[in-house]
Amino acid sequence: MPDLSAVQGMLRALLPRRCPGCNGQLGRSAGLCPGCRAVLRPRVETHSPLWPRPEEHLVTLGAYRGVTRRAVRALKFGGARDLAGALGEALADGVPTAWNIATVVPVPLHSGRERERGFNQSALLAGAVAASLGVPSIPALRRTRATAQQARLHAHERTANLVGAFGADTRRLPPGPVLLLDDVLTTT
Ligand SMILES: [Zn+2]
Repeated sequence: MPDLSAVQGMLRALLPRRCPGCNGQLGRSAGLCPGCRAVLRPRVETHSPLWPRPEEHLVTLGAYRGVTRRAVRALKFGGARDLAGALGEALADGVPTAWNIATVVPVPLHSGRERERGFNQSALLAGAVAASLGVPSIPALRRTRATAQQARLHAHERTANLVGAFGADTRRLPPGPVLLLDDVLTTT
């Protein structure tokens, strides 16, 4: 039985590659074409359901539409792992140096979902962001119970859905601020 990822790698190398952002030729670019890469602009948010007061606390690639949406969906469902590098670098560009991030920690998928998909896209993104920032990515969070998918819930149910759903192994972390990384933040 050949190693499946090696076979997929060969198939990808043989097929003309398309950019998941615009469906144009990808050429030699990894993940996204230069045009789509230029569209990914990180921004620092001061308001979100994650934080109790207006203060810079979140870096996003903007609203979940257009190139960003197509790239995240291709990463999640198409397994286009090259995209993690392109998206992660764009996110890392937006992280303020004043935050002095010491570690990047991916938000874990429910283990059943990770088994189905074979990988956690947040972990891939966390690795790319961490590499750009020059810090380690450490999977110090784990799910302690299954949760409903956030996107399927009403706004007022989402917090309750996540309370007590994670455990953190803080002994694995170096001292200093932690950047939590998730793929999509559901706000409406
Ligand atoms: Zn493109």
